[in-house]
Amino acid sequence: MISAAAHIELDITALRHNVAKVRELAPGAKLMAVIKANAYGHGLITVANYLAAQVDAFVVARIDAALSLREAGVQTKILVLQGVSQTDELELLQRYQFEAVIHSESQVNLLEASDIEAPITGWLKIDTGMNRLGIHPEQFAAVLKRLQRCKSVQAEINFMTHFANADDRLDNKTSRQLQLFNDTTKNYSGEKTSANSAAIIAWPEAHQEWVRPGLMLYGASPLLKQTAEQLDLQPVMSLYSRLIAIKSVKAGDTVGYGGTWQAAKDSSIGIISIGYGDGYPRYAKQGTPVLINNRRVPLIGRVSMDMISVDLTGHTEIKSGDQVMLWGDGLPVEEIAECAGTIPYTLLCGITRRVQVIVKDK
Ligand SMILES: *Cc1c(COP(=O)(O)O)cnc(C)c1O
Repeated sequence: MISAAAHIELDITALRHNVAKVRELAPGAKLMAVIKANAYGHGLITVANYLAAQVDAFVVARIDAALSLREAGVQTKILVLQGVSQTDELELLQRYQFEAVIHSESQVNLLEASDIEAPITGWLKIDTGMNRLGIHPEQFAAVLKRLQRCKSVQAEINFMTHFANADDRLDNKTSRQLQLFNDTTKNYSGEKTSANSAAIIAWPEAHQEWVRPGLMLYGASPLLKQTAEQLDLQPVMSLYSRLIAIKSVKAGDTVGYGGTWQAAKDSSIGIISIGYGDGYPRYAKQGTPVLINNRRVPLIGRVSMDMISVDLTGHTEIKSGDQVMLWGDGLPVEEIAECAGTIPYTLLCGITRRVQVIVKDK
């Protein structure tokens, strides 16, 4: 197959392996696969189609993604994390049978004011310390009572919360959040969910009825101190491009915008067709590794929109046209994120539309 210079390969075997890993870690829980932000850059519909038979539900941030899934024929249960903010969205929830997180009193007002025919399934979100979305535990009883009386919502309400620090096994904030969540909901029979990827691995006591893995499905480590390999997760996305030029520079020459890299000696420079226009991080520092013929070579100079430069001095075996890996199987995206002062989440979901997607399903 002829591929555009910059492309990602999706390893479906790895995706399935990672789902199986979640099942192994949380054997008693149902699995809602988080596929927000275009399935963390891997392609919403592609990932949903491959996962539909293996998971119990999908999770998206906003209703537009949920609609795209239904339009593509995905029948699986879908939970919308941000829920509704206006009445017409409520009608869509009902028509397409989306489930909604209910995280604020203004959403309860909206539900009470509407006269939709069939009640939707609601997940009441409790803010146990993240201080982003969710109602406070003190409001819980009153809000729940209103929801139980509200005709727009199924009487059986489910419950969720979200952890702020689950990626750090030593931070007891997660235990405190979990305790508060359990205390708040203990007298109610609805289904409960709290665990993201980090909690699935590091906090088994948080598994409850449903787990909500995102990052780990895509094969990156959600924990601060452990690699994907140590956690037996396999990267799904590998980002590739091609070496499009090799040139010699003299000692003292600079490379790229701003001349931020200067050759200490006569050097051989490779130019690769990838840049921030594809989602390669603009702030990747000098020395960020790039893989060519399984050899690591260092990024030099600034990342441009369509190109980066690497130092090929001494690598006489590398030729123009050679394939280059920017991250993926053999070059962890976590390591590139570290070099760019960011987290793997932003690199994965930052892949742009011009990057071709090739699916490998062995
Ligand atoms: C994004 C998100 C998840 C998944 O988080 P990961 O760290 O990618 O596993 C789970 N729950 C909520 C509420 C989220 O916003």
